Amino acid sequence: MIKAFENFEVWFVTGAQLLYGGDAVVQVDGHSKEMVNGLNDSGRLPIKVVYKGTANSSNEVADIMSAANNDKKCVGVITWMHTFSPAKMWIHGLQILRKPLLHLHTQYNKQIPWDTMDMDFMNLNQSAHGDREYAHILSRLRKPRKTVIGYWQDPKTQDHIAVWSRVCAAWADAQDMLIIRFGDQMNNVSVTDGDKVAAEQVLGYHVDYMAFSDVMVYFNQVKDADVDALVAVYFHDYAHDKALEDKGTEAYKKIWNSAKAELTLRAVLIDKGAKGFTTNFDDLGDVNVEETGKGFDQIPGLASQRLMHDGFGFGAEGDWKSAALYRTTWFMTQGLPGGSSFLEDYTLNFDGDNTSILEAHMLEINPDIAEEKPRLEVHFLGIGIRKSQTARLVFTSKQGHGIAATVVDMGNRFRLIVNDVNCIKSKPLPKLPVASNLWIPEPTFEVGVGCWLNAGGTHHSCFSYDITDEYWRDYAEIADIECCIINEKTDYEDFRKELRFNEVYYLLNKSLR
Ligand code: MN
Repeated sequence: MIKAFENFEVWFVTGAQLLYGGDAVVQVDGHSKEMVNGLNDSGRLPIKVVYKGTANSSNEVADIMSAANNDKKCVGVITWMHTFSPAKMWIHGLQILRKPLLHLHTQYNKQIPWDTMDMDFMNLNQSAHGDREYAHILSRLRKPRKTVIGYWQDPKTQDHIAVWSRVCAAWADAQDMLIIRFGDQMNNVSVTDGDKVAAEQVLGYHVDYMAFSDVMVYFNQVKDADVDALVAVYFHDYAHDKALEDKGTEAYKKIWNSAKAELTLRAVLIDKGAKGFTTNFDDLGDVNVEETGKGFDQIPGLASQRLMHDGFGFGAEGDWKSAALYRTTWFMTQGLPGGSSFLEDYTLNFDGDNTSILEAHMLEINPDIAEEKPRLEVHFLGIGIRKSQTARLVFTSKQGHGIAATVVDMGNRFRLIVNDVNCIKSKPLPKLPVASNLWIPEPTFEVGVGCWLNAGGTHHSCFSYDITDEYWRDYAEIADIECCIINEKTDYEDFRKELRFNEVYYLLNKSLR
């Protein structure tokens, strides 16, 4: 079990009925306990599975599902039909259930005991048809769910449950997520905007705005001694030029002010209970900050880098959808080694089969994805309202497989777009001293980018080295939103057809329920 998830539970409910007598149900109950203990003892699941007994009637199913809804620890429900569980008895319970659902198609007994099997044995091991009856009603109700198929002791089966469990935890985290925007969207930008009411309705999180005058209240309360201490942490944790430690220099002053900005933003986020934030380089407080002191004297890029490391969602230029999705990415990958970050498609490197995209941002990349110790540097940044020497962490990123995801608002629905990418060795950028990553989209640069463009994907994405598209498929299923996956199997024309088919599907889908 992962410590970060220790307050969560996944519930396990076994479908049965009383047709075969109470003795059979008692046996099923024993088998189920053994299976749940086996899952927990496998060491492969990040969240504890809690057995909730057999459900033998419509009332019992409804009671368990409403209990799941009302239990804050419960982030999802696994159902397994050990036996033929007439599925009309699941209708009311499934209609009530608002937590993520997983249908596990497995069987207590692994192999058929050919010489000894009798009807009693068969009655205890009949998931083969019990799960079909159950899956029918799930499909009839158009109930979103993950279906996992395989023997319960098989590591592959357990790994599918593990992925879903992580996504369930992140989904639960998003349901009371607050994102604070420091400044609005960057003017005129469409793809990072969207319907914040629909986002709360469909994806769970809430987006608020905080004026810079309110930020300054927190800014003024930051103690110099705390800033000094944080600057010392910077010099301890990051590679840097010794000259930066010279307190008489402008560079030192910029690092010190960056630390003050970090403490300010951190105080706001903690005080408000926010899990993420956005910034806007055109809105950093008083324009005459050098004289008035009422504002940040530089973009709080270093603060954003470090807050991302600590799990706060971040989106640049008011991009609240990316801030929320980054928080979800970070949350579900806790305890995994690779790291995740907000990234922006920066510039292209045409090079035949190795044609790649440089991913960076002005400053705001999470140092968790760095391939070596990040370097603290101060350079002039001439973009935004505050053209200034600006502190930042500079690095290139690890090589290997990763995945980029984004959510866009299509007007009548949210669309999740996901692309497998392969990160390759980059080069230092002496004249562009920012953190970066360099990747080739799957299946090829041309097809991967072509699909992303046709799907209307952002220039911002949430990137992770740790996950597969299975995580994002599970997320989209739970959220019940459109999911467009671009990977090594993707065909450009088929993908374009999928987009068109989806337009029709999402017009009709809700009316079928
Ligand atoms: Mn940007």
